[in-house]
Amino acid sequence: MAQLTDDCFAFDGPLMPLEAMEALIKNRVVPVTGSEIVALADARGRVLAKDVIAPIDIPHFDNSAVDGYAVRHADLNASGETVLKVSAKVMAGQSAIPDVGAKEAIRIFTGARMPDGADTVFMQEDTREDSGSVVLPSGLKRGANRRLKGEDIVAGSIAMPQGRVLDAQNLALAAALGLTKLEVRRRIRVSIFSTGDEIVEPGTSLSGAQVFDANRMLLRHMLEQCGCDVSDLGILRDDLPTLERAISDAASSSDVVLTSGGVSTGDADYVKNAVEAIGSLVFWRIAIKPGRPVAMGVIPHSNGNRAAFVGLPGNPVAVFVTFVRVVKPLLAQLAGAVIKPQQPLMVVSAFDYRKKSGRREYVRVALRPRADGGFEAIKHPQDGAGVLTSLTETDGLLELPDNVTSVKAGERVSFFSYAALSA
Ligand code: AMP
Ligand code: MG
Repeated sequence: MAQLTDDCFAFDGPLMPLEAMEALIKNRVVPVTGSEIVALADARGRVLAKDVIAPIDIPHFDNSAVDGYAVRHADLNASGETVLKVSAKVMAGQSAIPDVGAKEAIRIFTGARMPDGADTVFMQEDTREDSGSVVLPSGLKRGANRRLKGEDIVAGSIAMPQGRVLDAQNLALAAALGLTKLEVRRRIRVSIFSTGDEIVEPGTSLSGAQVFDANRMLLRHMLEQCGCDVSDLGILRDDLPTLERAISDAASSSDVVLTSGGVSTGDADYVKNAVEAIGSLVFWRIAIKPGRPVAMGVIPHSNGNRAAFVGLPGNPVAVFVTFVRVVKPLLAQLAGAVIKPQQPLMVVSAFDYRKKSGRREYVRVALRPRADGGFEAIKHPQDGAGVLTSLTETDGLLELPDNVTSVKAGERVSFFSYAALSA
């Protein structure tokens, strides 16, 4: 069960810098408890619940990194070629390995166990075999092309720390350690609603001033990419009792109830009133653009669950940006995930731009390769927060720092790809 305190989202300042928001989430939001054991095949995207201690060394034994000849380095001439007798051959997987004697070489293949006495392997491409002997060039360092037991991971050490989000590489490491299952944190349960009298379900007919619901599709897929269990609870009319009932019901079994629309200060914005009636609500005026205030709340349910409530703006581009910068850190914290800060790609702006100081701004851009090997960022011509093609016809977002007021064409700027932002 989610267990948030009533005031965990409280914030006094007029405008909340992104760093302050991230710190608040880290300090006040408690990760959910509960874990389960899953097979490696089903573990991608899950969060490791406990440190994984390596049960074996990797490599498990000294072995050759190449196809070639294993020798004793002491037998090699310091200058000029060395000729050694080839005394045996060892293949990968062979467990009975002959020793290498003085002035002998052993034909060896990649992954084969190193013969006792041998400390160096010549790549076959650098050698010639000649009637039972091999001719070796000079200059190879002792230990070349040999992989030592434990050089990747030492048995007993932490191979993967708790909190790590399991990707293909980490799951390959778990398999290399001989593991078949891992203990992972339970998935975060998120219920999503759209709100608004004008919003209708795709597949039905559109009349008058209605718009098809785009936000639920956006949120469902972004949430699934974050590894959440999503309950899609449809569209809610701008009607207080309906909203109260639906949001309260969703709060019984969710860690997060996520809505879009209806949280500005217009008359028809009932979501705010509904959440205030059934729980507590604060507005976060986060210093980002796009992204009007985001409504944050805690909804206690009579069953003891205390769900987080997040009310995103209605415009799809604002939904995307606030999801990436506000909802994702909250989900990661609830999930107990330790997320590495994303590194931007530095690109060159192809346009002049002015912005207000004191807020971070995200600009939708396409990238074009430059003659110097870098990239330049071309701003999408439409920057309205409702223009969905500005997200589909571009490659990612420029992030312009809070204190900057203008960007000139040719300046270096930070770029985040959509792939990186949605991962
Ligand atoms: P609101 O925040 O409710 O004032 O909505 C802001 C704008 O976003 C309005 O033009 C809404 O019609 C639009 N909007 C709200 N919800 C959705 C949605 N689920 N899908 C597409 N557009 C939406
Ligand atoms: Mg509305």
